[in-house]
Amino acid sequence: MNETSIRRLVIVGGGTAGWLAAALLSKALGSQLEIRLIESAEISTVGVGEATIPQIRHINMFLGIDEDDMLRFTHGTFKLGVQLNGFGRPGDSYLHAFGDIGLKPGLIPFHHYWLRSRGRPGAQSLWAHSLNAAAAAANRFAKLETIPNNPIGGIRYAYHFDATRYGQYLREHITPGTVRRTEGKVVEVKLSAEDGFIESLRLDSGEVIAGDFFIDCSGFRGLLIEGALDTGYENWQHWLPCDRALAVASERTGVMRPYTQATARTAGWQWRIPLQHRTGNGHVYCSGFISDDEAAAQLLANLEGEPLGDPRLLRFVTGMRRLSWNRNCLALGLAAGFMEPLESTSIHLVQSGVSRFLAMFPDRYCDPRVVNEYNRQTRFEYERVRDFLILHYKATERDDTPFWQQCAHMDVPQELARRIALFRRTGLIFREADELFTETGWLQVMLGQRIEPMQYHPLADELDGAQLDGFMSDIRTLVSRATRTLPTHEEFVRRTFGTPVAADVC
Ligand SMILES: Cc1cc2nc3c(=O)[nH]c(=O)nc-3n(C[C@H](O)[C@H](O)[C@H](O)COP(=O)(O)OP(=O)(O)OC[C@H]3O[C@@H](n4cnc5c(N)ncnc54)[C@H](O)[C@@H]3O)c2cc1C
Repeated sequence: MNETSIRRLVIVGGGTAGWLAAALLSKALGSQLEIRLIESAEISTVGVGEATIPQIRHINMFLGIDEDDMLRFTHGTFKLGVQLNGFGRPGDSYLHAFGDIGLKPGLIPFHHYWLRSRGRPGAQSLWAHSLNAAAAAANRFAKLETIPNNPIGGIRYAYHFDATRYGQYLREHITPGTVRRTEGKVVEVKLSAEDGFIESLRLDSGEVIAGDFFIDCSGFRGLLIEGALDTGYENWQHWLPCDRALAVASERTGVMRPYTQATARTAGWQWRIPLQHRTGNGHVYCSGFISDDEAAAQLLANLEGEPLGDPRLLRFVTGMRRLSWNRNCLALGLAAGFMEPLESTSIHLVQSGVSRFLAMFPDRYCDPRVVNEYNRQTRFEYERVRDFLILHYKATERDDTPFWQQCAHMDVPQELARRIALFRRTGLIFREADELFTETGWLQVMLGQRIEPMQYHPLADELDGAQLDGFMSDIRTLVSRATRTLPTHEEFVRRTFGTPVAADVC
């Protein structure tokens, strides 16, 4: 530590982003930093964010959180992927399953062998070669990192949980004394006349909180990054036109599915997320094509159980802050940007934002080269996620409503157009640098959205026909054998967490 080191770090916001940042930063730097978190009971958190991706498990490992304890508290269940219904054509259904598909016998990815096998008798769907997909189809689940005497990888999973309780859980598991929480509303942000850095915040109580570095987790309003620093916002609505969501919980009925469901509607899509004690539902839609009342009616007409309240309206503008880090302020969560929850990426973007910030942890002067590097990497990550989401809309054969017609005909970012064209012509897919979604993720959504490759890689011809058939059927046998050993998701949840409490927390 020297006189240029950051000592006082101030987080504004006590939603998932604020408490996740506080937990991770205090674990990493709690002994060196004085961390304060300011939240206002007057301004509620967004209160949604119930589905996650497998990377969230790294948070538990880093923070030393007991997964079962956390899921018991948050009424959580397990997630093997996202089932996407009606996105390619009405009636279509496919799973974006986590984890690997098939095995790689040679130098090229499995899917080239599968593409070749499609013309042969007895060929089966790509997803018949995925343990995650087979387990999901059978509503089965267990924590199976590897399978003894079976070369196919184990089960890769994430969680569904009550977002509000997850924030509370994180707060309660922060090492005592490392984060000082202050209840109050920030009413003024004071900037330095010299360099425009944030110097201090004034609360409605009159208290002034000074800091060396500030993290803006204030939600959509971006109190510091936009309100004080006027950073600017890049709007992506021309590619992802949905701008509203209605969220409502319902009684849990029927099978406890180990996956999120996303079902296309006339001007957007609807999510269904199974928790232990209730089901989370929401309708994400484009207000230019459907009224709020109609959207609410569609949502309520497609619940499995009775609603546990009235739908809550949320408005958003898809896009990202022009700079996620500006001067001595880093924006995380909704303050940094928003992309609809179709692939449950928002909490992950907070997690990776904090990891990147830790890797580049600055001194008080925030060298512009460090700041630029952070912003460059963050933009790359956001844009690749954005493109992945656009793929779900662009690659559609739906033309049954003006919304889907507009999606099918829109121009897409050049990078996405290049990927689609490459896959369509050759079957090739590459994961770029450390972008979030893997080749297997891109593959499933490309195929699920009915993009048909014209070719497979010539090396897939290294196996003769009988070898290829044997290879494919061996994988399917391994997958179904492993699937049969799993308990149902519901049995696993009951056994691990006991009987869920009544649907009291919505
Ligand atoms: C419809 C919808 C569905 C979503 N689904 C998912 C999902 O399935 N998976 C996923 O990963 N993510 C999802 N998200 C995103 C997820 O909800 C957010 O990323 C996450 O909750 C983080 O929110 P936040 O903490 O940034 O903001 P918020 O929850 O809005 O918290 C803002 C905080 O700032 C405080 N604050 C604001 N102004 C002041 C002030 N002046 N003074 C003091 N405090 C202040 C508030 O009190 C609050 O504590 C979804 C989002 C939406 C809109």
